[in-house]
Amino acid sequence: MTRVFSGIKPTGHLTLGNYLGAMRQWAAVDQHRADALFCVVDLHALTVHHDPARVRRLSRQAATLLLASGLDPALCTLFVQSHVDEHARLSYLLECVATDGEMRRMIQYKEKAAREQRRGGSVRLSLLTYPVLMAADILAYGTDEVPVGHDQTQHVELARDLAVRFNQRYGHTFVVPRATNPSVAARVMNLQDPLSKMGKSDDTGPGIVYLLDEPDVARKKVMRAVTDSGRDVVYDRESRPGVANLLEILAACSGGNPEALAGVYESYGDLKRDAAEAVVEVLRPVRERHGELCADPGYVEGVLREGAERARGMARPTVDAAYRAIGL
Ligand code: ADP
Repeated sequence: MTRVFSGIKPTGHLTLGNYLGAMRQWAAVDQHRADALFCVVDLHALTVHHDPARVRRLSRQAATLLLASGLDPALCTLFVQSHVDEHARLSYLLECVATDGEMRRMIQYKEKAAREQRRGGSVRLSLLTYPVLMAADILAYGTDEVPVGHDQTQHVELARDLAVRFNQRYGHTFVVPRATNPSVAARVMNLQDPLSKMGKSDDTGPGIVYLLDEPDVARKKVMRAVTDSGRDVVYDRESRPGVANLLEILAACSGGNPEALAGVYESYGDLKRDAAEAVVEVLRPVRERHGELCADPGYVEGVLREGAERARGMARPTVDAAYRAIGL
C-alpha cells in the first residue's frame, strides 16, 4: 500500500489555505487510499521566534482541527512530531549528507530569513536546516507520496535528493518520495494581498480566514477582499490576482472550476457574496466538530498517544538501518 506522510506547523491558527490546500484532501482522499501519517510538526515551529506556551496550545489545536476536518484514527496515524524521537535522530544523519549551499538556495529560507532580519531578530540556525528535518520526517517512514501545497514542493525535492544521495553512498536505505499537489486551490492567496499566500505564520490580518473564525468574521473578510478597478469577472491570475483567488476559493469550496465560474458572474459583488457563503458553509462542520472535540480533551490526548506509538514503531527500523549504514 502507498505510504503517505504530510505535516502541519503549529506556528499560528490554521487557515482556509491549510484546509483547502491540504487538510481536506488528507481527510477525503489520502487516508482512504493509502497508509497515511499526518503529523503536527511542532519542532518546525521552533525555527522562528516562538512562545513556548503558545506552541503547545497551537499543537493541540492543530491536532484537534485535523480530527475535526475528518481525519479518522482508525484509518490513519495522527501524531505530534516531538513525541517521536526518530525525527531528530534521523535529521542529524541527513545533515551529514546535505550541503550548506543546498540549504541556502531554499526559497522559503530566503523569504523567512529576510523577514526575521526585517523584524530586527537574528536568524536561528534551525531555520536554515529546517528542510533537512522535514526530509527526516518524510524519509523515516518509507514515504512514497507527500501531499503538499506548491509552496512545499522544493522541500520535497530536497528530501528526494537526500534519499538518493544517501542510498548511493551508504547502500539502499530510503524510499525516494515524491510530492503530490491537490488539483484545486493548491495555493490560496491572502485576501488583502493576493500576490502572497494565505499563511498562518503571518501576523493576524484581515486577509486571512482562520478555520475557527466566526461565520460573520469569515464572511466580512471575503466581502472585503481586494480585487481591482475592473468590472467584468475574468479568470486571469496574472492581471487579476484578487478576482482569480476568489474564483479559486469559490471553486474549491463549491466543487466548480474557476474558468467556468468566471462566466457565471457579472459583478465582483455577486462573486464575493457567493464566495463568502461558500467559505462559511465549508467551515461550518469543521467548527462544529472542533467544539465537540474540545469538550473531550482526553479523547484527543489518547489519539495522539496511540498515534505516536504507532509512528515510532514504523520509523525505528528505518532510522536504525540508516545509523548502521552510515557507520555507527
Ligand atoms: P503555513 O504555510 O500556513 O505555515 P504549513 O507549512 O504548516 O503552513 O503547511 C501545512 C500544509 O498546508 C502544507 O501542505 C501547505 O502546502 C498547505 N498550505 C499552507 N498554506 C496554504 C495556502 N495558502 N494555500 C494552499 N495550501 C497551503
